[in-house]
Amino acid sequence: MNANISSETTSPEETVQLGSTLAGRLKPGSIVALYGDLGSGKTHLTKGICAGLGIDPEHVTSPTFALINEYRGGRMPVYHFDTYRLKNLAEFMALGYEDYFEGDGVCLIEWPEPIESLLPNDVIRIRLKHGGGDRRAIEIQAWRSHGE
Ligand code: ADP
Ligand code: MG
Repeated sequence: MNANISSETTSPEETVQLGSTLAGRLKPGSIVALYGDLGSGKTHLTKGICAGLGIDPEHVTSPTFALINEYRGGRMPVYHFDTYRLKNLAEFMALGYEDYFEGDGVCLIEWPEPIESLLPNDVIRIRLKHGGGDRRAIEIQAWRSHGE
């Protein structure tokens, strides 16, 4: 059964706050896929999740060129992926992604579309949409079994 949460934020700070609240539901091995256009707030939500896990959000930036950033020093490691510039699936597989997906930390994935086929069943999908001005509609879709 699916559990969905729909929310709307009206400022970047509010999106960070929402991420921080969400962090309490994550555990080692959690995988979060963040869908949404450029500027929809994927990185801000990621900053919030990291903050909620005890990582300084100042250190959180989109790993557009590196493909992955690792943040340590929080409650658990965070592996932050951004596949916007991914050339092909093979490039992602060459990262040894299974070690991250099945590892001791949380995986946060911006632009997950190219690697959709590699996502596990219990992935938490979050969809962000521009709502005019500073409004963002944020929909969280997760399997109920996750963390319950
Ligand atoms: P993405 O990673 O999806 O490209 P970012 O989080 O990097 O998006 O950027 C979102 C941009 O939108 C930032 O410039 C931020 O200041 C702005 N913004 C305005 N309103 C919001 C909001 N409600 N939530 C998140 N970001 C917002
Ligand atoms: Mg981003």
